Amino acid sequence: MLNALQKQLDQRKADGLMRQRRLLDSPQAEYIVANGQDYLSFCSNDYLGLANHPKLIATMQAAAGDSGVGSGASNLITGHHRYHDALEKKLAKFVELPAALVFSTGYMANIGVLGALVGRGDAIFADKLNHACLNDGGYYSLAEFHRFAHSDVAALEKLLIASTAKHKLIAVDAVFSMDGDIAPLPDYLRLCEQYDAYLYVDDAHGFGVLGQHGKGSLSHFDLASPRIIYMATLGKAAGVAGAFVSGQQVVIDYLIQTAKSYVYSTPAPPALSATLTESVNLIENGDDLRAHLQHLITTLKQHLRLKNWKLLPSETAVQPLIVGSNHAAVSLSEHLQKLGILVPAIRPPTVPVNTARLRISLSAAHSEQDVIKLAEALNAAEIMLTEKLT
Ligand SMILES: *Cc1c(COP(=O)(O)O)cnc(C)c1O
Repeated sequence: MLNALQKQLDQRKADGLMRQRRLLDSPQAEYIVANGQDYLSFCSNDYLGLANHPKLIATMQAAAGDSGVGSGASNLITGHHRYHDALEKKLAKFVELPAALVFSTGYMANIGVLGALVGRGDAIFADKLNHACLNDGGYYSLAEFHRFAHSDVAALEKLLIASTAKHKLIAVDAVFSMDGDIAPLPDYLRLCEQYDAYLYVDDAHGFGVLGQHGKGSLSHFDLASPRIIYMATLGKAAGVAGAFVSGQQVVIDYLIQTAKSYVYSTPAPPALSATLTESVNLIENGDDLRAHLQHLITTLKQHLRLKNWKLLPSETAVQPLIVGSNHAAVSLSEHLQKLGILVPAIRPPTVPVNTARLRISLSAAHSEQDVIKLAEALNAAEIMLTEKLT
């Protein structure tokens, strides 16, 4: 087996697909130190700049002082601390749903929830561009797994009409992580009502950013229904780690009993929950942060003067710049890196062939000047690299 593994790694290297981890020597922020170098970074999902917020650091320090550093047991034994409980109540109230349940990561939440809510004889309907962990949750659940073309409501409806599954669950990213666009959630909810299906919304990139006071994608569309099961991660805009699922009380009660990644796992330390409760406060009172983020998005669009490379239409913090070939995307990313600017190149299979891109991720921590610097570097790079590549 070890020989086979080595062979596959060698092949990856030969194909230019070997991925490397950078060593970070600073907090996650707009300016970072990676592999010993200073960079202006457009790589993180820390959309509100909370990952290094002094108030959250102080909260975590204080909470570690009075609750320790480890949960010590699963939630159903003795690991469910008052801080975990307070966070769940805070989150449910914030997203205006009856109840919430906190998981250690978004990946675990999706696997746990899909595995618990549907199984053999049921069906999941998933957008083709969904995050990998929704796919994994789907496979793990043993339900039929149908994928439909990106945000194609008509294609989804056809699948629903043809389905004879007992329970039907539409599972989608609300904001697509590599495209930045928003799913047509109101259309999906209408289909749910029409075909007796349920809607599982993964709002990893909308929570904290979209909607009234950052309440997320449901608030963005003003959607409420007992057919919705909402999930969001807490390591992106919330700046810490973890995830939560929110919906009807019966759904949460059922998950506490049956979601295996919840039941058989040690919860994240209570101090993390205490920190997250404070983070939700900052999100709720963070209209100025979101206004600044919107200003940065507009600033980027206004300052880019590109002929061949194109920003995808996105109104979120994720601003993908389509470059085309893998080679061009990697060259561009490397070129920017030499200028002290980090923007990741995203290639197939993460995105479709010939749509290799830079995933520009903006954060309220950036200044207008940071974004203008990026735009001007891109404007100059297009002229330079197009000449070099042709
Ligand atoms: C990041 C992400 C996840 C995984 O969340 P983690 O907490 O990082 O494990 C799930 N879904 C989507 C859409 C994501 O972007």
